[in-house]
Amino acid sequence: MQAIDLYNKLHSVQNGTVLCQYSMETCEKLVGLINEINDLKKERDAAILAHSYVAPEIILGVADYNGDSYQLSKNAMETPAQTIIFAAVEFMGETAKILNPDKRVLIPGANPGCSLASSITGEQVKDLRNKYKKHTFVCYINTTADVKAACDVCVTSSNVLKIVSNIPNDKIVFLPDKLMGENLKNELEKMGIKKELVLHTGTCYVHEQYDPDLIKYFRIQNEGLRIASHPECSPGVAMLSDFVGSTSQMLDYIRNLPENTPVLLLTECGLSARLQSELPARRFIGSCNMCKYMKSNSLENILQTLKEPEKAKEIKLNTDVLAAAKRCIDNMFKYAE
Ligand code: SF4
Repeated sequence: MQAIDLYNKLHSVQNGTVLCQYSMETCEKLVGLINEINDLKKERDAAILAHSYVAPEIILGVADYNGDSYQLSKNAMETPAQTIIFAAVEFMGETAKILNPDKRVLIPGANPGCSLASSITGEQVKDLRNKYKKHTFVCYINTTADVKAACDVCVTSSNVLKIVSNIPNDKIVFLPDKLMGENLKNELEKMGIKKELVLHTGTCYVHEQYDPDLIKYFRIQNEGLRIASHPECSPGVAMLSDFVGSTSQMLDYIRNLPENTPVLLLTECGLSARLQSELPARRFIGSCNMCKYMKSNSLENILQTLKEPEKAKEIKLNTDVLAAAKRCIDNMFKYAE
């Protein structure tokens, strides 16, 4: 790759602030690392999977696959490469390992945590099961393998409504995302579906920061504004949005808007960055929150992982957890039909 190729992909990306714009000079510095990574991954039989929230130079420079956590886990099954370098956060690497137990999954991020995934442990779920014996336990995919192993059914942001509607039990414990749970309650109510939903207290610290008052301000400032938000945002934000959906659903919504429509995308700003590059005719405005865990992935730590894989963080799960967590994910397919 030449620096100019990288610049052509990145020059329209603002990452929410002019401080994060890519100059030709920046691209000249990045391209050496990118080429070294791309050569080494072939030698090492490795594929790089990058979540939409990591830095644009990873997505557009070295990633073999890009998408949300569930899409990437499926990509991990497709790739013939035996080593997966998962540029995202740890729980996503665990999901990839659950679906690909024979592959080696390495995590390059320096701080691969998540405020949602760390809000509850498998042991806490087991305690809750003693309290709510008649309930079906539904967990969001943004949970650790231990939590999935202790739950009945896993969901993603795109299928949560369908799956909870399809579960025959009307008593559900939904965890860990409190805000997604409140949005789910509202949607079920609108559809006339009666379910008793017990919620946990977890939140995504990136999405919960969006404030309904800020949205009203953006509407006043931008005529014809279209707002798309993720269901990890609060119900107040969801109510003021034109569209609420998962990463892939928001992408489809925005791709179908007329050119020059001003768009406010309320999710981690890596997604706006990707769309600024893919859809230069849309006008992305305003607000941008970054996830410090996702942004702890860098070209440097991906290169280091390729150079010294034995020193990298490798996902290892015991066989019982792996089997129970797989059952929880398999149940998602069953109820999604
Ligand atoms: S954006 Fe939120 S849910 Fe995603 S990894 Fe960061 S803290 Fe976790």
